[in-house]
Amino acid sequence: MSCRYEDLPIPFRGRLLLGEPMQLHTSLKVGGPADLYAIPEDTDDLTSLLSWLEESNIPWLMIGRGYNLLVRDKGIRGAVISLEKFNHITAIDGSMIKAEAGVENLALVRFAQGKGLGGIGFISGIPGTIGGAIKMNAGAYGKGILERTDHLTLLRNGNVHEVRIDELDYGYRHLKLEVGDIVLAATFSLEECEPHHTEEQIRNDLELRRTKHNVGYPSAGSFFKNPQEQAAWRFIDSAGMRGVKVGAAQVSEVHSNFLVNIGGATCQNFLDLAKIVKNAVHATSGVTLEEEVRIVGQI
Ligand SMILES: Cc1cc2nc3c(=O)[nH]c(=O)nc-3n(C[C@H](O)[C@H](O)[C@H](O)COP(=O)(O)OP(=O)(O)OC[C@H]3O[C@@H](n4cnc5c(N)ncnc54)[C@H](O)[C@@H]3O)c2cc1C
Repeated sequence: MSCRYEDLPIPFRGRLLLGEPMQLHTSLKVGGPADLYAIPEDTDDLTSLLSWLEESNIPWLMIGRGYNLLVRDKGIRGAVISLEKFNHITAIDGSMIKAEAGVENLALVRFAQGKGLGGIGFISGIPGTIGGAIKMNAGAYGKGILERTDHLTLLRNGNVHEVRIDELDYGYRHLKLEVGDIVLAATFSLEECEPHHTEEQIRNDLELRRTKHNVGYPSAGSFFKNPQEQAAWRFIDSAGMRGVKVGAAQVSEVHSNFLVNIGGATCQNFLDLAKIVKNAVHATSGVTLEEEVRIVGQI
């Protein structure tokens, strides 16, 4: 690296943390230090930071709230960038609402509810931000957030672009963006909906998560994608994997597609456990599970 972070030669107004432990920023509570953890104030601040990182050949990674990230134990060489300050929501006109990348999913649903708009209640209980939800096409009950998205505001090569969602390739837990694209905001096309109806959806979703999905330990939600529209947990159960442990990483006793940290697990524990689960499922069902969590960091 040609430049020390302490001497960052740019007028950066946001917050910079050096050697920041990623276990503090991931719901699985694992992950070694990131060389630099940056929280820009706004788009100009982000743009200055990115030009410096690119000129200095320093790789970077976007983070939302880390609810879907498994960070390796050696941490992240380079920068992790959080858009937590990008948290405005605006009603555009009629049925359109624009939310910046750092807005929490439930805050968007509540804002829409206040405007008498709905159709996005299914994201109420999905933890995380709009940026993370868009990148993952997060969803529930067979719906994904991109179905309700009209267009994205992207930072691409230092310029702001508006890209219509129908110009992009996306599907189940998948959105293909160009390398280096950053989601600054998303604009949603919603429909008129009685606030009490949205309230019912929110309550039902939160109740489901409080009961059936309450695994009692840190997790990243579903660890594996559902293969061929079938529930991954059924294959994991059939392979006898419920409750299996490696170190302090365990296949949850409550929901077998949740891998949980029962106290002090390492990333390697999760990687080893995931391998055991995948091999067992392949041996018993012939199905190859694919991780839904994003595995990042130095090998
Ligand atoms: C208890 C629990 C339940 C869950 N239930 C569900 C569920 O029902 N459905 C579901 O889909 N998921 C679920 N998840 C997983 C997780 O909540 C979602 O994937 C969520 O969308 C992640 O959001 P995040 O802001 O934490 O993103 P992160 O995990 O921080 O990041 C996810 C990905 O998005 C990228 N990213 C983040 N922000 C940006 C940006 N601004 N621009 C470009 N890329 C970006 C990151 O680099 C990473 O690749 C659950 C997780 C937990 C812990």
